[in-house]
Amino acid sequence: MLNVILCGAPGSGKGTQSELLVKHYGLQHLSTGDMLRAEIKSGSELGKEIDELISGGNLVPDHKMVHLIAHYIDALPKDCKGVIFDGYPRTVEQADALTLLLRRRGMDSVMLELMVDEDEVIKRLLERGKTSGRTDDNFDTIKKRLRIYQEVTKPVSAYYLRHHNYFLINGNYSMEQTFEQIDTILKLRSAAKQATGSSPVK
Ligand code: ADP
Repeated sequence: MLNVILCGAPGSGKGTQSELLVKHYGLQHLSTGDMLRAEIKSGSELGKEIDELISGGNLVPDHKMVHLIAHYIDALPKDCKGVIFDGYPRTVEQADALTLLLRRRGMDSVMLELMVDEDEVIKRLLERGKTSGRTDDNFDTIKKRLRIYQEVTKPVSAYYLRHHNYFLINGNYSMEQTFEQIDTILKLRSAAKQATGSSPVK
């Protein structure tokens, strides 16, 4: 199985690259943002709590996220080719929990971090805010999300770098050029895995 963790600031293009990965690699797309917004839409008590956190630009607490992800992984179909984790893990605690969850099931993962200039992400998010209807796509909340990203989520990259499964992608290019970088890395990684005898990436 090929499990790809897509990391990057809000507006860095994780959703767009996920769509391309689904198309070219047949992976399942897990966007925790979409998952949480679906919970809000359901009108549940949990959804109301989550709504308040997201609208304020805050993260949902780790224990709730880990629970949701564990449930998702357990429900994966047997013939699943792999998962794109879009927006998870966002803290080192979440990364630890994911590593354990995958390891217990004999799986591993690779992190791809999309680097995009801050001016560019703010521009993209403000543009998205005009039509997305998202309560968190306004200037003040965007600034707060970017600050939380730098302080809390950025250390997750170092976590994967230490575990030798981290690659940096320049996301300032067009979506096709950005995807080309991802595709090259995944193909090289697959070839290296085959050459060293470990299970090939499918
Ligand atoms: P973006 O990456 O553009 O901020 P997402 O749709 O991925 O958008 O996430 C929207 C919001 O959902 C986040 O700002 C956060 O409040 C919440 N969220 C998503 N994923 C997580 C996570 N792994 N841990 C905690 N909160 C999360």
